[in-house]
Amino acid sequence: MALLADFLVLAGSLLLLLALVPLGYMRRRLPPGANRMAWMFLSGLILLFFAGYLGYAVLAWNRAEHWADLVVPAVFFFGAVFVLVVCWLSAKTADDVMRLCHLEHEIITDPLMGIYNRRHLDRCLRQEATKSRRYGLPLSAMLIDVDHFKKVNDTYGHAVGDRVLQALAQTIKGSVRDFDLVFRYGGEELVVLLPYTEGQGAMVLAERLCHWLADRCLVGRDEQLGCPDLRVTISIGVATFVPTQEEEGQLMARADAALYQAKQAGRNRVVYAAPPAVVPPRAAQTEADATD
Ligand code: GH3
Ligand code: MG
Ligand code: MG
Repeated sequence: MALLADFLVLAGSLLLLLALVPLGYMRRRLPPGANRMAWMFLSGLILLFFAGYLGYAVLAWNRAEHWADLVVPAVFFFGAVFVLVVCWLSAKTADDVMRLCHLEHEIITDPLMGIYNRRHLDRCLRQEATKSRRYGLPLSAMLIDVDHFKKVNDTYGHAVGDRVLQALAQTIKGSVRDFDLVFRYGGEELVVLLPYTEGQGAMVLAERLCHWLADRCLVGRDEQLGCPDLRVTISIGVATFVPTQEEEGQLMARADAALYQAKQAGRNRVVYAAPPAVVPPRAAQTEADATD
């Protein structure tokens, strides 16, 4: 009996020590902050319990005589099992959640430019359009295209072209507000969704971007890649969502038409999209039909 009681307490104390392993693993993966401190506090508590188990083992060593004397050691043992399982499960769950976050991030990110991809644009555009429709919030979009980008590829090779695209994406991302969303639309085209932004604000931002890029070298000289200081210009089509008259798809179509105009007008410029064609209300339409 005494042997069993002592074994339960000692085994329990070892299980407590074992629980520190998943805790340490979790702590190391957390950034410094309150959460990490909380797990450190829990590790400290476990060490305190471990000392308590050892103290009890010394005091009650070889003293158990009846079945009833096994109650406390059994509670110690199963308490330690509980702590170990909870710590292990927490570490495993945190791991799975991190893996899922990583996967989700990969699914919505363009690997070359490091910005959101087209798939995510479709989802965000739907969400932002719904918000705009429901709460009457302004929403604008910029469709950006690099001018004569094929020439960059043809002259310096695809590796340099890729470097230009990366630098462009990061420059644009760095020059918009935190809640603006930057996507790769395809090839060398990017979309910036500007929630809470009227047409005028979007135009100011687009003009600023256009001038900023035209004035500066985007990719520095690189002997290894064989390219000099490189600057590129961009053309931008800007459109503002009119929730009463169009679907979100039409917003992008209007931005695209404006971009086309910018290209036609000589590139390195911004064009604001024409408003959507006014659809007459149903009653007015039938009236018009009747008079025909
Ligand atoms: P424009 O001023 O009319 O837009 O001319 P452009 O040369 O930029 O237009 P075009 O559509 O003819 O060429 C786009 C080029 O972008 C062609 C394609 O090879 C290149 N491109 C698309 N995606 C990538 C990419 O991921 N990396 C590189 N390096 N090039 C790309
Ligand atoms: Mg293009
Ligand atoms: Mg282009």
